[in-house]
Amino acid sequence: MTDQFKNYIDGNWLMAPSGKTFENRSPADRNDLIGVFPASGPAEVDAAVGAARGAFAGWRLVPAPKRGEILYRVGELLRKNKEEIARGMTREMGKVLKETRGDVQEGIDTAFYVAGEGRRLFGETTPAELPNKFAMSVRMPIGVCALITPWNFPMAIPTWKMFPALVCGNTVVLKPAEDTPLTAVKLVEILSEAGVPPGVVNLIHGRGEEVGAALVRHPQVQLVSFTGSATVGREIASACGQSLKRVSLELGGKNAQIVMDDGDIELAVEGALWGAFGTTGQRCTATSRLILHRQIAKKLTDMLVARARGLRIGDGLDESVDMGPLINEAAREKVLGYIDVGKREGARLLTGGAIYKSGSSANGFFFEPTIFDQVKPDMRIAQEEIFGPVLSILEVNSFEEAIEVLNSTAYGLSSSIYTQDVTRAFRAMRDIEAGITYINGPTIGAEVHLPFGGVKDTGNGHREAGTTVYDIFTEWKSVYVDYSGKLQKAQIDNAE
Ligand code: NAD
Repeated sequence: MTDQFKNYIDGNWLMAPSGKTFENRSPADRNDLIGVFPASGPAEVDAAVGAARGAFAGWRLVPAPKRGEILYRVGELLRKNKEEIARGMTREMGKVLKETRGDVQEGIDTAFYVAGEGRRLFGETTPAELPNKFAMSVRMPIGVCALITPWNFPMAIPTWKMFPALVCGNTVVLKPAEDTPLTAVKLVEILSEAGVPPGVVNLIHGRGEEVGAALVRHPQVQLVSFTGSATVGREIASACGQSLKRVSLELGGKNAQIVMDDGDIELAVEGALWGAFGTTGQRCTATSRLILHRQIAKKLTDMLVARARGLRIGDGLDESVDMGPLINEAAREKVLGYIDVGKREGARLLTGGAIYKSGSSANGFFFEPTIFDQVKPDMRIAQEEIFGPVLSILEVNSFEEAIEVLNSTAYGLSSSIYTQDVTRAFRAMRDIEAGITYINGPTIGAEVHLPFGGVKDTGNGHREAGTTVYDIFTEWKSVYVDYSGKLQKAQIDNAE
């Protein structure tokens, strides 16, 4: 019998009244049906937002340390269920088990980190300019937050958004990606078990154009937190601009790793392999460009190609596999399209470039690890986000040229440089246009207690994680308490 999953509205698990559903199948084996989920519409969005609005009145008054304690319990339950969630995640989105375990771990780390924030949420006190007057600023919750998330980090990304939103006293409606609804169900089950009151967290499944768009436009949604493609991000930002909603956007990347002539080549090969082919290249922080100093380019390229050819491709549930499938047919078509683009533009295909077919992989969306060299900075494969296991190698003659090439795309999420020279390392930290820079590490590997986000077309200036995420999910209020017993006029009574 097919497993049937539901929406979660006001503390109840509900089917869509229309009875419409969509299927969730494993990208490693299309014959593996995980379950069916409600294909919701505007009516369910309205019900979920109404429930969140209703619950806000009570949740905002629960002391923040108490809200933090519930999130701590969420962290404990995530830890208890880590293996089961990771296996379900690998089955529904394909990345290998050690990575899905890491994805759940990010949720656990976020829960414990944010739980402590319940006892901080610091504001400021400052002297007032008039006598017998007190001044301070405090953080206030905003209201109903719509959280719209992609499929590549089905646990980490919803938790980055949801836990800070909740500890600040907001209520939420989560709209997960159509390809990863199961992990969202697991998360919400845990929140409910941990004691989050009805209506505080709501979950709506369905298509982005339908459910996501209706959420963004709902008049009772005060804030939209979106992670996904730049195309959809632009649409959401325009809609939020019209209704003056707060919107935070975490969008695409075209991340590069530089290796200078003094870099540790073996370390750089390890980093590039993990950065380019981890999660089958489907990370917003994936390494999609490798910028090599001409002196070491040939040696490093030969080593990397040999290693890429040795990667084991297959079902991520098999512990011996290095790289799982792409997420769906459209993704595989997109990657194939870019292989053609690269060849037509004159880049040289060194390895890969084709659908991977072997044994049991015929029913999945597998693709070979692919490396192009002789790539020029203005080629489309050096400029556009491919979101697959495709790495472009560009050669440069100097440090200055490396930085210029790295900065020459519209995006600015993650970046990396391998060098033993402290001067170059500090110049890179200063001159690279990106939200994240690694020295002697790959472009992936963010930790939850540092700000996460990018510059240029990667976002709109917000940062998730760290202490900066609270600027997304709270409004500042300045409070003045006058205990002088008389009318005091600022800038007038105390003027010279
Ligand atoms: P996507 O933009 O197609 O979808 C993201 C979410 O938006 C999904 O839940 C989808 O249903 C919803 N959506 C789609 N159309 C919508 C609309 N018109 N209105 C409202 N919601 C809509 O992205 P994806 O393919 O799921 O994810 C891949 C992209 O996400 C890549 O570009 C990647 O770089 C980016 N990403 C960025 C970060 C980051 O933190 N910067 C992290 C992970 C992924």
